Amino acid sequence: MPESEKEWRNSAPYVIDEETGLKPKDFNVHRGTCFCNKVKWGFSIKDALDSKQLHGAPYQWAAIFPKNKILFDKESIDYLQFYNSKTQENRHDMPCKVACSDCHSPIMDEGRNMCLVFPTLVEGIRTDRETAKAFEVKCHIFYDRRVELVHDGKPKWAEAKEDSDLLDDDGNKIQDHQDAPRKKKRDEEEDKKEDKEDKEEKEDKKDKDE
Ligand SMILES: [Zn+2]
Repeated sequence: MPESEKEWRNSAPYVIDEETGLKPKDFNVHRGTCFCNKVKWGFSIKDALDSKQLHGAPYQWAAIFPKNKILFDKESIDYLQFYNSKTQENRHDMPCKVACSDCHSPIMDEGRNMCLVFPTLVEGIRTDRETAKAFEVKCHIFYDRRVELVHDGKPKWAEAKEDSDLLDDDGNKIQDHQDAPRKKKRDEEEDKKEDKEDKEEKEDKKDKDE
């Protein structure tokens, strides 16, 4: 087995992250299966960290979970297929797309620490209210690329979350990207850095003058 292959097979979500102290039975809070049932996985926490509707993307609804809160069944591992869109290779090279090699159901996008899972494959998502609530869309991103308007009153970002214009359901700008939370935070950090540099410069000058 090549070294890189060994590595992913020994990491979450393909085995339990030992540091979590979780057991296989803990991964039954929600269960997911691909279309042909060869790939099965479970979640150890109820609520997604975040759930977004991505506009202009083929798999529009995505919920974020830490990798160590997801576990694939052992028998499913050999039915997984990976794809890295940058290298265009079917290898486990993060960030990568994870799908069933038999029915080709897209299962999730795997990053270094988080997985963006597609809730449509979660059991009970259409029939159980509690399950639906756990994966409920909290915001919309890339709303500028929408195909149709969504009147659900949820926050809508023109592009990236908290880092672009905020729009209303009809796509009208209600807050400029300059005031977006992440942009503001970056500006604040930048200002602090500049202040510090100014102060250091002044002190340097003072030292020289003395
Ligand atoms: Zn399948």
